[in-house]
Amino acid sequence: MSPAMDDTHREVLDCVGIGFGPANLALAIALDEHNRQVPARHQLTSAFLERQPRFGWHRGMLIDDATMQVSFLKDLVTQRNPASDFSFVSYLHSQGRLSDFINHKTLFPLRIEFHDYLEWAAARVDDVVRYSTTVDDVVPVTDPVTGAVTAFDVRSGDSVVRGRNVVVATGLELKLPPDATLSARVWHNLDLLRRVEAFAVERPRRFVVVGAGQSAAEAVGYLHRRYPGAEVCSVFFRYGYSPADDSAFANRIFDPEAVDTYFDAPGDVKRMLFDYHRNTNYSVVDIDLIDDLYRRRYAELVTGRQRLRMMPASRVVAVDDGPEHVRVEVEDLATGARDVLDADVLVYATGYAPVPATRILGRAAGLVALAADGVPEIDRDYRIRPAGTAPPVEAGIYLQGGTETSHGITSTLLSNVAVRAGEIASSMAARHPVTDPAQDATFALARD
Ligand SMILES: Cc1cc2nc3c(=O)[nH]c(=O)nc-3n(C[C@H](O)[C@H](O)[C@H](O)COP(=O)(O)OP(=O)(O)OC[C@H]3O[C@@H](n4cnc5c(N)ncnc54)[C@H](O)[C@@H]3O)c2cc1C
Repeated sequence: MSPAMDDTHREVLDCVGIGFGPANLALAIALDEHNRQVPARHQLTSAFLERQPRFGWHRGMLIDDATMQVSFLKDLVTQRNPASDFSFVSYLHSQGRLSDFINHKTLFPLRIEFHDYLEWAAARVDDVVRYSTTVDDVVPVTDPVTGAVTAFDVRSGDSVVRGRNVVVATGLELKLPPDATLSARVWHNLDLLRRVEAFAVERPRRFVVVGAGQSAAEAVGYLHRRYPGAEVCSVFFRYGYSPADDSAFANRIFDPEAVDTYFDAPGDVKRMLFDYHRNTNYSVVDIDLIDDLYRRRYAELVTGRQRLRMMPASRVVAVDDGPEHVRVEVEDLATGARDVLDADVLVYATGYAPVPATRILGRAAGLVALAADGVPEIDRDYRIRPAGTAPPVEAGIYLQGGTETSHGITSTLLSNVAVRAGEIASSMAARHPVTDPAQDATFALARD
């Protein structure tokens, strides 16, 4: 029996990734580059399981004029390996657009262009990805002699992939207010473009968008432009959209080095840093988009035909979802006055939250040590700490995303995907058993 096979003759891969968004795509590339540099016995085998039928990064928000909120230099590889041929610059070169992009003088490409870059990179590691595969359970595999957990069976229906390490990178899911229910007329912005495409009403009269973050402002701007006959009401708690702080010193919170500072800091300092810098990312909007929306609103004041309606310091207090329209009752928090809006569509742009790892891990979740706030305890190399010592857990579970409380604000973002993927690949490589003398012989022959 090959040492790569276990007692049930199932192949054991070194890495099984759950989800194939940018985070695990960056990891697939890091592993590919690792394997190209080391002898066969040190190479790491992998498979990535993705529920979508093909690569896609927030397709519902690929609004044609939306730009990235992160520099293109924070692509899948550059901060880990500036010489990588998987960089955004390599992509531009391959598309014959490098000079045009340089002339453009921007660090922030269109989101659709970055999506195309991600698809280009994903296609180049296609051999390790299984699409249309939704993981529904992760089952610990124990050594019959020692009782130690040596691997995990990652299950999707009847199909099973066994891994010595599992890397959970399942991203974000939508967040709704407690009583909200999605329907044909009540959407979350995460599905905006798909919903608009399927929307049968030819001349909608009114949209209500709830929220004051980047996605809300983008949804407002998009609907306002897409439906020139409709009023778009923007409802939020604040008095006005607030700009994202992307000034140079504050931006250092996204540097790879900031992860070390954050990880080692005491809990109260972590919380303090997070609170100080949450306006780099949360409930804030790119200043260019704020200016654009304000310009549109002012132009409408001049022409007297107001379609962009700001409803600040307000909240939705009731929603009556009917066949002809959705009735939205909005309360002005300052005066208590209520406004009833009959809308064609209500869009909740009320944010996202990381998919809880323990939900994805299924039967393996019991092995995970949980902190007081219920999130997994995690080491600097993004490996989850096992709960207790029995059974001993030799296999690894790594998390990409959902680590904000331990590793800081970049956890759910793109800023650090290149470096983090390298750190996880190195951690797996360091724990990799080199036990295949046959592979060693092959390598020796190849070298000779
Ligand atoms: C509209 C939008 C724009 C954004 N723009 C930026 C930006 O400009 N800059 C930035 O830094 N961040 C941005 N973000 C933050 C975002 O989290 C990151 O860009 C990025 O998506 C993180 O990558 P990921 O791979 O961790 O997660 P995701 O991209 O969410 O990928 C997770 C993948 O896991 C799959 N999956 C989930 N559950 C399962 C399962 N059970 N089985 C199999 N597969 C599963 C999903 O289908 C998905 O493909 C944006 C977020 C949104 C919503």
